[in-house]
Amino acid sequence: MVDPPLMRWWGWGDPARPPTLSPPTLRLLSQTVGIAARPRPPVALGRVQLAPPGLPERVLQRLREIVGREGIRDDHAERVAHAAGKSYPDLVRLRAGEPDGAPDVVVLPVDADQVRAVLELCARLSLAVVPFGGGTSVVGGLAPLSGGHAGVVAVDMRRMGEILGLDRESLTVAVQAGIRAPALERYLATRGLTLGHFPQSFEYVSLGGCAATRSVGQASTGYGGVERMVLGLRVATPVGEIELPALPASAAGPGLRQLLVGSEGTLGVICTLALRVRAAPQERVYEGVFFEDFAAGVGAFQALAQSDALPDLARLSDEEETRVTLALADPGRVSLEGFKRRLGRLYLGMRGHRGRGCLAILGFEGGHEEVAVRRERALASIRQNGGLAVGRMPGEAWLKTRFSAPYLRDELLTQGVMVETLETASQWSQLRRLHREIGGAIADSLSACGTPGLVMCHISHLYATGASLYFTFLARQREGDEIGQWRTVKEAASQAIVNGGGTITHHHAVGIDHAPWMEREVGSTGMAALRALKLELDPTGIMNPGKLLVLSGPG
Ligand SMILES: Cc1cc2nc3c(=O)[nH]c(=O)nc-3n(C[C@H](O)[C@H](O)[C@H](O)COP(=O)(O)OP(=O)(O)OC[C@H]3O[C@@H](n4cnc5c(N)ncnc54)[C@H](O)[C@@H]3O)c2cc1C
Repeated sequence: MVDPPLMRWWGWGDPARPPTLSPPTLRLLSQTVGIAARPRPPVALGRVQLAPPGLPERVLQRLREIVGREGIRDDHAERVAHAAGKSYPDLVRLRAGEPDGAPDVVVLPVDADQVRAVLELCARLSLAVVPFGGGTSVVGGLAPLSGGHAGVVAVDMRRMGEILGLDRESLTVAVQAGIRAPALERYLATRGLTLGHFPQSFEYVSLGGCAATRSVGQASTGYGGVERMVLGLRVATPVGEIELPALPASAAGPGLRQLLVGSEGTLGVICTLALRVRAAPQERVYEGVFFEDFAAGVGAFQALAQSDALPDLARLSDEEETRVTLALADPGRVSLEGFKRRLGRLYLGMRGHRGRGCLAILGFEGGHEEVAVRRERALASIRQNGGLAVGRMPGEAWLKTRFSAPYLRDELLTQGVMVETLETASQWSQLRRLHREIGGAIADSLSACGTPGLVMCHISHLYATGASLYFTFLARQREGDEIGQWRTVKEAASQAIVNGGGTITHHHAVGIDHAPWMEREVGSTGMAALRALKLELDPTGIMNPGKLLVLSGPG
């Protein structure tokens, strides 16, 4: 297998690629939220404080007997790299050199048999196990919590990245769950196929991690979320294995596949996956549409979703996100300036309205004829509902910069700016109200912290009955109390979400951060049912303690 790409231990992405913020972005930040008086870079790796690893040599020897000498790592760099994921609190703590603990050892199995043997040993010795895929969790899903056990073992899936087989006739591929999304797409591309799963974290995610978190990609409106792609899977648990074959459908009782998808490493380790694939698109058309305001855009998107005219990607920014997107568009590019002028003219021409306007991106993928037909139908529906098509520039610009945004987060933190995202989904009938209430809760709580900020939102995954809302907010960090400031806002936003009838998470998963609101969503009997399943598969509670199924909290 190909080695997975290196990742900065204190942030996002390729360590060789320097993070940068353009001068207009820095200017906008200073004028709006404010930046730190002096840059606040991360500490050096050697200064990260970790307690020494606590496992006795005889335990390490038993692990070595299962995974081999090269399958065990407990050096400082490896433990730091497995100390956290990529949530805002994770990054704040890592950059300060003060992660909330680290695994005692990182174990690198090569197949399902080794995983099963590691889990059996850990259950016998009372060691907590944290499954580790691409390491991109944004909800604390990788926190190395012992849950009262004698130590923490991270099971890193990076040596389990093999393709096990392609069934061209059925359009399914079988893989080891540690395979990274780019490696799978490269393999499929040479065969004229695609999985079609492109989360913004695409560069690093493992398919096992995606399945464990019910992840969605940018074009989920067309390709579906990962839960629609997983047809079969093999999961090692502390008490044995569950193997479910790749079937197109089954009425054999409740959907066990769907209980394992989204289980966040709390029931076992997903070792292999059988995934649905599709023909790679011959054509991709991504283009811009402009609406008078967010409410009008929501109405038009609802009409699209309910009239069988859906694009593969549909994304609607609210007024604030549109304003910031256009303000930050690269001013050096003449054609983009031209686009802005044209947009301005079109916009002012819209029913004489002088509001702020909202930009949407529509993306169509598939065969040439199919794209032409679907695009025509969608644009007709958009026009009927007050939208203006503004050409391909915004769609192409969005596609080009899509995977660069995570790099900016690191630089924003260096400038003393808190940047965080959170997401939900709800029915169309609730969406406009929920947008107002969550946005208001974020803005009010930021102000209450003495750090008023920018709050932006977009819709990015459409269903016939509703859609997701994805908020991004920026504010100056409260130095010395960065986590307290974040917690205040997170709690206010989460409360607004559950009070307003939204899900606590549409695709980021539950982890630690959303666990206190889980019971509000599934009820106490629902929680009891999930805990009973855990007790059966993981009787000693070693699997990813403290995530997903913890006791109820606020709300
Ligand atoms: C910049 C950025 C952008 C993001 N964009 C998106 C997006 O567009 N869409 C989206 O859905 N998410 C997104 N995320 C969140 C994250 O990428 C997803 O949750 C992703 O699915 C995690 O995959 P991973 O391989 O990195 O898993 P990890 O982060 O390693 O693990 C996530 C959880 O799954 C468990 N786990 C991992 N592998 C296994 C396994 N084989 N078996 C059992 N449990 C396992 C872990 O214990 C943990 O609880 C983003 C994150 C970042 C940092």
